[in-house]
Amino acid sequence: MTERKARDGFDVAVIGAGVVGCAIARRLTLEGARVVVLEKAADVLDGASKANSAILHTGFDAPPGSLEAALVAAGHEEYRAIHARLGLPLMETGALVIAWSEAEEARLPAIVEDARRNGVDDVALLTARQVRALEPGLGEGVRAAVRVPGESIVDAWSAPHAYLLQALGNGAVLALSAEVLSGHLEAGRWRLETAGGPVEAGVVVNAAGLHGDTVDRRLLGETHFSIRPRKGQFVVFDKSAFALADHILLPVPTAITKGVVVCRTAWGNLLVGPTAEEQEDREAAPLTREALEALLARARAILPALAGHEVTAAYAGLRPASETKDYRIRHDAARRMVTVGGIRSTGLSAALGIARHVHRLVEEIAGPTQRLADPDWPRVRNISEAAPRDWQAPGNGGIVCHCERVTRREVEEALKGPLAARSLAGLKRRTRVTMGRCQGFYCTAELARITRGRLAEPMMARDGDH
Ligand SMILES: Cc1cc2nc3c(=O)[nH]c(=O)nc-3n(C[C@H](O)[C@H](O)[C@H](O)COP(=O)(O)OP(=O)(O)OC[C@H]3O[C@@H](n4cnc5c(N)ncnc54)[C@H](O)[C@@H]3O)c2cc1C
Repeated sequence: MTERKARDGFDVAVIGAGVVGCAIARRLTLEGARVVVLEKAADVLDGASKANSAILHTGFDAPPGSLEAALVAAGHEEYRAIHARLGLPLMETGALVIAWSEAEEARLPAIVEDARRNGVDDVALLTARQVRALEPGLGEGVRAAVRVPGESIVDAWSAPHAYLLQALGNGAVLALSAEVLSGHLEAGRWRLETAGGPVEAGVVVNAAGLHGDTVDRRLLGETHFSIRPRKGQFVVFDKSAFALADHILLPVPTAITKGVVVCRTAWGNLLVGPTAEEQEDREAAPLTREALEALLARARAILPALAGHEVTAAYAGLRPASETKDYRIRHDAARRMVTVGGIRSTGLSAALGIARHVHRLVEEIAGPTQRLADPDWPRVRNISEAAPRDWQAPGNGGIVCHCERVTRREVEEALKGPLAARSLAGLKRRTRVTMGRCQGFYCTAELARITRGRLAEPMMARDGDH
């Protein structure tokens, strides 16, 4: 076999363009590293990051002293500091951790104590009467709650897109359809064999999410953790239900899961979920009638008025859980590799904190980087209900998706530029097309016309993820 020339000149290769990989690429380029992002899918955000609850957690309920607690706190803080500059939403709803039984009520003081140990000092215990004053629509049986003002709603996709866009604006390179198949370290540099050809870099960061252990095995011949995918199913209620709850309504968590949440979405819907179901499959997250019915029943117990509102959609995501609760981040200076594994259920919130942590580890391996003096700060177009949308602005070319009020200009823009959509699912994540009540019934034909010849995965069947 003839030796193919590797794409070279990179300080760091980041494997995986989920929210974690995108945030790491951003941080490393801001710190002056030359970065390549290698993603196996045809578009970014195709793994765990494509479907979550989109809550920006404070880390109030993380195990005190854990790496997760520190990195969620750091990620939360940085998101709040930069979101306006990047054009990202922040819906500051706050959360209520509601006790529905005597046993749950007895656990609330410990939740307050843990929150304070995690540096989240503004939490408060509320009586049932105080809870009802804040959320009059709650069902029977509320006993008490902990209020966590800092828990907020964001948008699962704009943030990672913005992080990667900023990385690309500062010189990073994105290689799609570039699954990392194998690699070896030679004279202090990695040569990675990818589905898109060989790539060379000084340090490798494995941020492969649901395949993190596989990538470790492919490159190091071993792994210190195993991914145990944990499915979460959701039900999305119609926009008419949005105003039924002001806060994020959380249950008292168990050791396995944060439990079923009711919260607003950045798109103006009301969300119920997720479930927590262990499974082997790392790709498919099928919806099941039983789980969705259980979610609906729980939702109507929490907010009885939901019985009068329609469901718009259901979707599911997979958490890259591992055999232990904490993040599985490890660096190996001799083998010039950082593994960022097991970013289970808080990765959207922690991504910016994880990225700072990884930068420190990369510096330990490769020496100090030199921060960019005048970095690029691109703004993404707002697609949330937290700020004015393009349909309200002149010259938008008219509306293509009427349910979600997505304009032709938004679709056209999403098909261009360094982070152009490559699939219908990618277009949906950039614009909201097909996410509304009709689930694409009315706009699919028009979208097929606009996108003809412009997607790596042409529009045929409808994508199931939300
Ligand atoms: C149901 C559910 C609810 C959640 N709710 C929240 C929430 O409200 N708030 C919050 O903060 N977090 C939440 N999370 C967690 C969050 O979504 C995850 O922590 C996060 O998405 C993990 O991102 P990641 O980048 O580590 O992994 P991924 O998104 O899986 O990214 C890894 C990427 O690596 C690529 N890849 C894999 N193998 C290779 C290879 N060999 N070569 C190249 N590329 C490869 C994949 O295609 C993928 O794009 C939730 C998760 C779920 C499932």
